[in-house]
Amino acid sequence: MTFCEHMLRAVIFDLDGTLTDCDLALAKKRVCEELVAYGAGYVEAVRRMEEIHYRFNIEGVYDRNRWWEEFGVDLELSQKQRLTDLYWDSVTSTTCIKPHAESLLASLSPSVRLALLTDYDGESHSKRRRISSLPLLRYFDLIVIAGEDTEQCKPFPQPYCLILEKLNLQPEEVLMVGDKPQVDLEGAQVLGLPTLLVEGEYGQWDPQVSSLEEAHSFIGALLASQLEP
Ligand SMILES: [Mg+2]
Repeated sequence: MTFCEHMLRAVIFDLDGTLTDCDLALAKKRVCEELVAYGAGYVEAVRRMEEIHYRFNIEGVYDRNRWWEEFGVDLELSQKQRLTDLYWDSVTSTTCIKPHAESLLASLSPSVRLALLTDYDGESHSKRRRISSLPLLRYFDLIVIAGEDTEQCKPFPQPYCLILEKLNLQPEEVLMVGDKPQVDLEGAQVLGLPTLLVEGEYGQWDPQVSSLEEAHSFIGALLASQLEP
């Protein structure tokens, strides 16, 4: 990655796991308990949940109604939707903004354009509604919900291209920051965007940082180096 020939003019942030956290364990536990009422074994349901949660997040299968088909119990659509609502209600009620997220965005916003790029929650749940009350949204010049605003989700090109087009910037001028290398960063890198991983549960990347405070230092150093003659 080099910014030597290109100024950093914008930063795209992923949302879930990058700027916000939530109690996913609680959401998964509540669904597993409900699955038992529908005939699943609890221990097996917990095991399946962990496997599905990781794999479908990597594969971009976000529609929770689709997830519940993997548990070996026959569910009607209304039952799947009930589990989906339970899951997202748990996520929404436990969502918190990560330490340093707000100060990072506030300090960057005078220097660079800020975009939020998040994948949708699938057809069975409105991501736009889920995030609508987050106070962080006011810092962004642009918010793109891939899967709703574009046909393709990350890591495919459409959502990144839409942001570049709307900001009228070249890929080399825009840093993509996320917590999933396979979803947030690989597709961005293919298009020529510089990338930064905020370390989470989905593997390593180069470059990576372990917190938003470190991300702040990383981006601050990039911006400062541009001011040098
Ligand atoms: Mg994420």
